[in-house]
Amino acid sequence: MPADPVPDSQVLDTLKSTFGFTSFRPLQADIIRSVLGGQDVFVLMPTGGGKSLCYQLPALLLDGMTVVVSPLIALMKDQVDALQALGVKATFINSSLDPAETNRRLAAVARRAVKLLYVAPERLVTASFLQLLSSVRVAFFAIDEAHCISEWGHDFRPEYRLLNRLREAFPDASFGAFTATATRRVQADIKAQLSLQKAASFLGSYNRANLFYEVRPKSSAYRQLVGYLNGRRQASGIIYCQARAETERLSERLRSDGFNAAAYHAGLENDERRQRQEAFKKDNVRIMVATIAFGLGIDKPDVRFVVHYDLPKSLEGYYQEGGRAGRDGDPSDCILFYSYGDLIKYRRFIDEKPSEKEREIAHQQLRQMADWARSTECRRRSLLAYFDETLEGHPHPCCDNCRMPSKELDYTEPAKMLLSCAKRTGEQFGTGHLIDVLRGSRSQRVLSLGHDRLTVYGIGRGRSRTEWEFIVRELLRRGYARQREEEFNALKVTEMGGAVLFKGQQVLLAAPSEDEALPTGPAALRLDLFEELRAIRKNLADDLSLPPYVIFHDKTLRQMAETLPTSRAQLLRIEGVGQQKAMSYGNLFLDAIVEYVRRTGAEPTPMFKPVGAPSRRVGLTPTMRQTLDRFNEGQTPAEIAAGRGLALSTIEGHLAEALEEGEPLAIERLVSEDKVRTIGLAIAEVGADALKPIIEHLGEGYTYGEVRIVRAFLNQGQARPDQTQVYAKSPA
Ligand code: ADP
Ligand code: MG
Ligand code: ZN
Repeated sequence: MPADPVPDSQVLDTLKSTFGFTSFRPLQADIIRSVLGGQDVFVLMPTGGGKSLCYQLPALLLDGMTVVVSPLIALMKDQVDALQALGVKATFINSSLDPAETNRRLAAVARRAVKLLYVAPERLVTASFLQLLSSVRVAFFAIDEAHCISEWGHDFRPEYRLLNRLREAFPDASFGAFTATATRRVQADIKAQLSLQKAASFLGSYNRANLFYEVRPKSSAYRQLVGYLNGRRQASGIIYCQARAETERLSERLRSDGFNAAAYHAGLENDERRQRQEAFKKDNVRIMVATIAFGLGIDKPDVRFVVHYDLPKSLEGYYQEGGRAGRDGDPSDCILFYSYGDLIKYRRFIDEKPSEKEREIAHQQLRQMADWARSTECRRRSLLAYFDETLEGHPHPCCDNCRMPSKELDYTEPAKMLLSCAKRTGEQFGTGHLIDVLRGSRSQRVLSLGHDRLTVYGIGRGRSRTEWEFIVRELLRRGYARQREEEFNALKVTEMGGAVLFKGQQVLLAAPSEDEALPTGPAALRLDLFEELRAIRKNLADDLSLPPYVIFHDKTLRQMAETLPTSRAQLLRIEGVGQQKAMSYGNLFLDAIVEYVRRTGAEPTPMFKPVGAPSRRVGLTPTMRQTLDRFNEGQTPAEIAAGRGLALSTIEGHLAEALEEGEPLAIERLVSEDKVRTIGLAIAEVGADALKPIIEHLGEGYTYGEVRIVRAFLNQGQARPDQTQVYAKSPA
């Protein structure tokens, strides 16, 4: 079925303006192009690879509705909540709704007021539902978790079998199957069942580059665990245990040691399970100590670690369970505690199985698991080898076996500086402020608190902010200090820390290796602001009864804390901020950032510094409006110039002025991100008053139009009247 091609610029536009992303993950662009071209697709991509976007984005551009088949009610609700927060017309229909609500939603579908409809397979294939769908145009069927259709898959759901009826009923629609785990056999099964033999196949890598694999000997496991958790008070994580009783026992012990943990297993009442899962999603519970009953349906993107407290039974299971960490692409850990005792214990269990075949398979799987755990080779490489994939090179971070053992260095002096700085300020301040004091910052906050008069003021100048952040992290991790959210992240000195200060206890830390991913450069993270933004997000999420990650991901908040956007236009430049979110929640976060900048005198990233004098405000003239409308419809400046019989430079002028007037233009369609940065730096060097010196400074490869547009874009930062003060001391 030939479809009019959707221009790539429009796809990119939607990616940015609706989803707030600046670039595609691997394969996404090709998959989306195929779907928009009316092709069937088969997509195998690891957990967190970003499969949803591959049908959600096309759904907005296709003529007609997209129907998504999903196996779990909870998953449907989560995805629809997230889409609605982006301003997308999405809804779901399943058995959790009462009849009146169901009818309302069906009516919306009939009115064609829905672009994305989530539905369970068994309802989808009823006669009345099929009839409703035939009366509206369905452009695309996305079958999510498609391995559920195969008896050979690890999660067979008989109701998925019914889907083979759809092909006949909708000969004009195209189909896509999406899954994260499918052996060759399962792949063939999916294709046969859904008649996808001619589909374009996209097979992603099993490699999860952001996961760090580590195996630790299971001795004093609890102490090791607590040491690990201490440095991650604000992180969400899962700890898998084999036995239900163990999850209860361990979570109890963690709670009594001050951690925010809960247990989860199949022995709990349904309601109780649902509540605990919900609490985990909403960050009310940080650590879930669970059996593998806690599995499908957890698509919380910011799970920072998965610990296996006991040996898993197979490597495939381990890959899937560990894979629940780091869906958002941020660095996350998979840690396994291995002991020979566990191995012996499970072998005995297996020997009690009645069927010889079963025993054989189970023994083989357990052997592979134990071999992997005991191996001294690269864990990533051997895990991928299990899935017939070859790893090229060593991505970083990789695994414990690849990490060069680094020498421990004496950090007693700086540790004392930091701990005594915390003491002298009454243990009431967070990391960012303590580092400010140690490094002798002249920020308003330090001065107004009189902290520049402390003896510790400025004694840590010799170390970079990044190095101090490393030191604090390690001190927290090793228990010399602690920090709690409910205490506003004020840094407290522990008994161990006291021994360093007063009893001559030494502090040895492994120096960060050179290639270790420490944040570097001018945009070092402002931890205190980051925590503040997280608190705002949590409040907002609770008010809206949504998980915090639906508002913004950590990565997005971190970028805000690094770059300090202070206007809505700047906010839109942050990864993860689309139009809808900027509009509905933007001001809350902007206000906090503006206030932070005012309070601390922190410098925004060069890209966000205002340049030149504030522009005059005249409003858009009709001719500018015409240019703008055409641009927003997807035309390029050259096309607009040709269409309107005007010079290209005139059109670029219109767009520049529109930007200065505060119109939220998709600047990435005009100037590449690299160029925005380079031009921004040039402007910082030579000033913004005249274009010519900027062009001369830049050298070849830049046009007046581009420079004009970037200058306008940077000027947009002054659109908010309440900001004059903030920028009072920035260089013009
Ligand atoms: P999958 O279904 O493949 O496991 P998801 O579709 O749930 O993965 O996506 C995982 C996470 O990645 C989500 O939080 C999503 O917002 C994010 N994501 C997807 N595509 C992109 C992208 N192009 N840029 C940034 N983040 C993305
Ligand atoms: Mg998914
Ligand atoms: Zn490795």
